[in-house]
Amino acid sequence: MGYQEIIEDLYKSVKREENIGSLASFIPELGKVDPQKFGIHLITTDGRAFGVGDYEEKFSIQSIIKVPSLALAYKIMGESLWARLGYEPSGTPFNSLVQLEHDRGIPKNPLINSGALVICDILISKLENPQEDFLHFMRKASGNPTIAYSPQIAESEKSVGYRNIALCNFIKSFGNIENDPDEVLDFYFNQCSIELTCRELSEAFLFFANFGVVPSSGDRIMTGSQVKRINAIMQTCGFYDESGEFAFKVGLPGKSGVGGGIVAVHPGQYSIAVWSPVLNKKGNSYRGVKFLEQFTTRTELSIF
Ligand code: GLN
Repeated sequence: MGYQEIIEDLYKSVKREENIGSLASFIPELGKVDPQKFGIHLITTDGRAFGVGDYEEKFSIQSIIKVPSLALAYKIMGESLWARLGYEPSGTPFNSLVQLEHDRGIPKNPLINSGALVICDILISKLENPQEDFLHFMRKASGNPTIAYSPQIAESEKSVGYRNIALCNFIKSFGNIENDPDEVLDFYFNQCSIELTCRELSEAFLFFANFGVVPSSGDRIMTGSQVKRINAIMQTCGFYDESGEFAFKVGLPGKSGVGGGIVAVHPGQYSIAVWSPVLNKKGNSYRGVKFLEQFTTRTELSIF
């Protein structure tokens, strides 16, 4: 069986089962999405592409952007980045405050909100025009010149962003945010607001599956060693307090967002994006995890 047949087959069987969970309605705009949307797109490092369902429809990628944001900061800072945050799984929800007091404002890793806020702060300090330069990086890494922020989604999140506002100010109180918290938060909400289709998302992550090089352009985005480390962080931290379970069930590095997207990479093989907006209790797409578990089982391809 080829990839197309497998994804179509699993799409149908996962869609037949009950969709258990709820939308991310704590961000008002995300509460308006049709909960039955379901799309999948896979692209291989040698350029073959396969899609099923709503894979050409845009959705808010939310926390998935934490990975490219980390990539750009790591590229700029090198190993000195790790003075500002760690690379250990947190074992806590994505928006948790509890560890920060104990760790004196040093977030456990870059893929939880606290860590992503510190990454945004670093990018603001280091880039001339942070918001534009970040989009430029995303466009180059994905080969997609249309990537843009969604002001509507960013505003919607900002209007209720009390927890992220608290996180940012709390970290600032320990001296681990250099810039104005409002500026850091605006950049963070903008990053989270980006909308991509499953096809675009799988393309944007293909360089993580291809040792740092965008296959279509030949552009090297990062070194192979840096990509190895980012993939390791996705593997151990990409799903918050469900990261162990995702590794156990799916066996690929990946990242989720509360828009219901999940992207996973198989180094040397492919990048796959799944979107289904109904989330489980940990804030990860219910059908997305189910689909990927069955996908790596059926293909018998995993990094383990
Ligand atoms: N923008 C969301 C938040 O900060 C991102 C969370 C997520 O996708 N897990 O709450």
